[in-house]
Amino acid sequence: MKWGKLFYWLLLLVAVLMLSACGSSLKSQEEKEQNNGGQQEVKKSNTEEPSKVETTPPEPIVQTIQLSAVGDILIHEDLYNAASVGNNQYDFTPMFELVKPYMEGADITFANQETMIGGVELGLSTYPAFNSPVEIGDALKNSGVDIVSIANNHTLDRREQAVLNSIDHWNKIGMLYTGAYSSFEDQKSIRVIEKDGIKVAFIAYTYGTNGIPVPEGKEYLVNLIDKQRIKDEIDRAEEIADVVAVSLHFGNEYERMPNEAQKELVQFSVDEGADLIIGTHPHVLQPFSWVQGKDGNRAYVMYSLGNFFSGQIGEYKQMGGIASIEIEKVIDGEQIDITLKNPKFLPTYVRRQKDFKIIPMHLLTNDDVKNPQGLLEDLKRHMSQEVPELEFVS
Ligand SMILES: [Zn+2]
Repeated sequence: MKWGKLFYWLLLLVAVLMLSACGSSLKSQEEKEQNNGGQQEVKKSNTEEPSKVETTPPEPIVQTIQLSAVGDILIHEDLYNAASVGNNQYDFTPMFELVKPYMEGADITFANQETMIGGVELGLSTYPAFNSPVEIGDALKNSGVDIVSIANNHTLDRREQAVLNSIDHWNKIGMLYTGAYSSFEDQKSIRVIEKDGIKVAFIAYTYGTNGIPVPEGKEYLVNLIDKQRIKDEIDRAEEIADVVAVSLHFGNEYERMPNEAQKELVQFSVDEGADLIIGTHPHVLQPFSWVQGKDGNRAYVMYSLGNFFSGQIGEYKQMGGIASIEIEKVIDGEQIDITLKNPKFLPTYVRRQKDFKIIPMHLLTNDDVKNPQGLLEDLKRHMSQEVPELEFVS
């Protein structure tokens, strides 16, 4: 009997243990389900792998800069006459007064200085063969411009001497220039600007020089569009910079949409690795765009930035603007990712009454143009038709 009683108690104990085990296993299953439903990780018991020490990977380093670009700067006689302060001297800085804060606000600012600044010693001249006062260079420097393209159809207007005089002045005031050079050695050196650890390379080309031949043996005087050269220089630029900006002086004058030749050259440049295209020459604004390259890369394209500062007359020819884009660099261990994002645009207008000031378009009044609000709304629709996220600055 004794053994029978003991056996009975043992059975009872086993049954209780089994029930409680079942209960706890059910409970833990429930917990897991709840945790998974809440997208939380199920914590592992520490006792299973006591020797493992958890290490957290270092946080990725994120750097961001803002790059801005403005279009054609064409100094017609109206402009240099208005800027004259006597004694063969000029002051263009008041004309940039209202846009200067926006230009200075960017980390890097690019401009297309279409006319050479050969200075008064060569005799100033206007369309069709320009030579401009050096002081327009000073005004750009003063407004926060960091680099100018001087590869334009007007580069050779006043031949070699005007190019060399210009380069002397750019060097004197510490302004980087690209697209036209003083020697083959100068031409070989790719311009790179580094801000906050992000390096941007600038290369520039023009479709031609208004029928004036580039002097033989002095092909450094201006970079003509040449696919092999563009490809080689993009390759070299990629070696030394995070971002490759290609300035292309191309397209048809006064056409508000890019033509097939522009699209083809842009596609070629992006396929070769260009990250940003800064297009100039049509003297009117063409819509911004994103273009996908053959390796899945994506570039931001400014097909034509229009006239930023010129004596040309006509609503579309007086409109220009400050285009900008954010460049983000993420360093995650060995991995470096560059992203261009958040495109912005400040539309501007060259007011011709009395002062030739460059006016942010949202500040235009009925005294400056007919229906300023309508003009601005039309331009916003035009510029953002392929980039709906484009943000307009005011
Ligand atoms: Zn041009």
